Amino acid sequence: MVQTHTEVKRVEELRRLLQQASYAYYVLDTPVMEDAVYDQLYRELQQLEIQHPELVTPDSPTQRIGERPATQFLSVRHNIPLYSLENAFNVDELQGWDQRWRRQVTPTEAQYVAELKIDGSAIALTYENGILVRGATRGDGVAGEDITQNVRTIRSIPLRLNFDGIENIAKVEVRGEAFLPLEVFKQINEERQKAGEQLFANPRNAAAGTLRQLDSKIVARRRLDFFAYTLHISGMDDASITNTQWEALELLQKMGFRVNPNHKLCQSLAEVADYYNYWDTERLNLPYMTDGVVLKLNSFKLQEQLGFTQRFPRWAVALKYPAEEAPTRVENIAVNVGRTGALTPLAQMRPVQLAGTTVSRATLHNSDRIAQLDIRIGDTVIVRKAGEIIPEVVRVIKELRPADTQPFIMPSDCPVCGQPVVRETGEAVTRCVNASCPAILKGSIEHWVSRDALDIKGVGEKLVHQLVDKGLVHSVADLYDLTTERLFALERMGEKSAQKLIEAIAQSKNQPWSRVLYGLGIRHVGSVNAQLLSEKYRAVAELSSAKQSDIAGIYGIGAEIAQSVYQWFRIGANQTLIERLQGAGLQFANTEEISAVDHDNFKLGGKTFVITGTLPTLKRDEAKALIQKAGGKITESVSKKTDYLVVGEDAGSKLEKAQSLGIKQLTEAELMKILAE
Ligand code: NAD
Repeated sequence: MVQTHTEVKRVEELRRLLQQASYAYYVLDTPVMEDAVYDQLYRELQQLEIQHPELVTPDSPTQRIGERPATQFLSVRHNIPLYSLENAFNVDELQGWDQRWRRQVTPTEAQYVAELKIDGSAIALTYENGILVRGATRGDGVAGEDITQNVRTIRSIPLRLNFDGIENIAKVEVRGEAFLPLEVFKQINEERQKAGEQLFANPRNAAAGTLRQLDSKIVARRRLDFFAYTLHISGMDDASITNTQWEALELLQKMGFRVNPNHKLCQSLAEVADYYNYWDTERLNLPYMTDGVVLKLNSFKLQEQLGFTQRFPRWAVALKYPAEEAPTRVENIAVNVGRTGALTPLAQMRPVQLAGTTVSRATLHNSDRIAQLDIRIGDTVIVRKAGEIIPEVVRVIKELRPADTQPFIMPSDCPVCGQPVVRETGEAVTRCVNASCPAILKGSIEHWVSRDALDIKGVGEKLVHQLVDKGLVHSVADLYDLTTERLFALERMGEKSAQKLIEAIAQSKNQPWSRVLYGLGIRHVGSVNAQLLSEKYRAVAELSSAKQSDIAGIYGIGAEIAQSVYQWFRIGANQTLIERLQGAGLQFANTEEISAVDHDNFKLGGKTFVITGTLPTLKRDEAKALIQKAGGKITESVSKKTDYLVVGEDAGSKLEKAQSLGIKQLTEAELMKILAE
């Protein structure tokens, strides 16, 4: 394939960056980036080198295992090289590995041994006539460092093997993972912090750093542990002793090693996938760190047939757990316009796997955030997605920035309607202030039909876009002028669905005043505030003529909200909208039953409630309605004035705050009891 100038540059930049990272990681034991980020960039380099083999250099990180450490330890050559493992990042890639090895041998029936991938440092132990004579680090795979003194301090490494007839076995080589239990790792870092020393980034680097301590007394104090996973016996026909990895693990245990107990013999990849999924969550309960599953073909005969590539065995693979951070490239920065007119920049990125999902977009919030990150189109960025949280760009890898990038500047005109945008002093948000901007219109209609507002079923984002783009709707009031005939103008709209939509829209005329008020989309008026306002002002005329200071006086409504409401009603176009909606038959006043609520006469009169978490049987709206009907007030946030916090499952910060303020908590059952009294 013909190489382009940018590809050559990218290969050079990636190589330089990965070399620096690898040195920091293996030699200094202080990584400069997350492993997942390293892995992904490494893959990119690997791909580019596959496409352009002429660009491969012997010092490329793809051609080496580890680093040649610069230390005072003696260098020792490994009898059998200590390889790395091929990585798979999902079950599809695992299948790719499986197909690859199957193409190279016959017969292909196989069992797999699945082991946990312990996040520590690989070491090789040599026993002669049953006695430990040498311990070495992996180093660059061919030669490592002689750390025998340090290895001898690890209690779970036997100094003499426990095996009948061992005296006759010339040489036993055992490999495994030296690691620091999480508890010890935490303790070491605490001590280092107190001593003002640099902290270890993770248990793996801490283990590697500890193994290369010159003072064995320090090593002994650090309480390293060891799991054995590979056994080579020479000087005797080892086939007569073990034929499989499974047997080798059993034998290692008999010899006196600790073997991780969580290995499993699997007959199929489906079983492997079950094991992998099970440990995905269960591993968080283990006292040591794991970052994946290592899968090995059980039969030594098969292993021998398959052999090694330059870097790893063909008969094993590491299936890693999804990362929460990954690098990717920003292909474009788009700007979205929401219903309030706010312009939100959005990074459109090369799709990347993150915590189990594919991510290709992340919000950049506003121009301040963009300036802070200095993010540009073409940049390589690190995206993060922890748990359920939406993905965000954490930082830019400036070393990988192409030469011709420009700082991103927010457009001065709305990207949808072309009218000038406004950014008020002291505000982070840039807005389109053109009331008839199609983006604002679409957003406001989507809000109007949403569940907590008028709850019009069947009118989704796609339909709203069609209605606006075809010019059928220019304001929410136009929804009520739609007829089945007009709807036929839309793509794939049959008579039945058109009829259903018209009915759903008509149904919304029965929704109460509080929902209508919320649906109007006045800034800062969420559903709770709409409820508070609609209780105090029982009809729209009262609210529209209310003084700003009176609105601000309502408990739960502050000055900012009052100002936004007051100003909204001063705009002529909004008054026209209300008139049209009233004409269409929407509710702009409380019905008798609701307006009869008199806070002082009810059992919950004047009491203020906040609801948090998921209640066992009641939906949030139902609980609110019950409390309000009994004269209670609902507010969004906990303050000293809150009387009760109704607590459901997964309650978060509101519960903490209520606890710190000593506010009484109620379960749903307790609330129901009070209501029934
Ligand atoms: P690896 O960690 O992906 O896999 C091989 C290692 O797995 C073995 O050497 C062994 O130590 C370990 N292992 C744990 N349990 C095992 C088991 N049951 N059976 C066999 N082996 C087991 O590969 P690697 O070559 O050691 O290191 C590459 C990794 O180092 C990459 O994943 C990369 O993220 C990381 N790295 C990070 C940076 C950085 O800057 N953050 C730099 C260089 C390398």
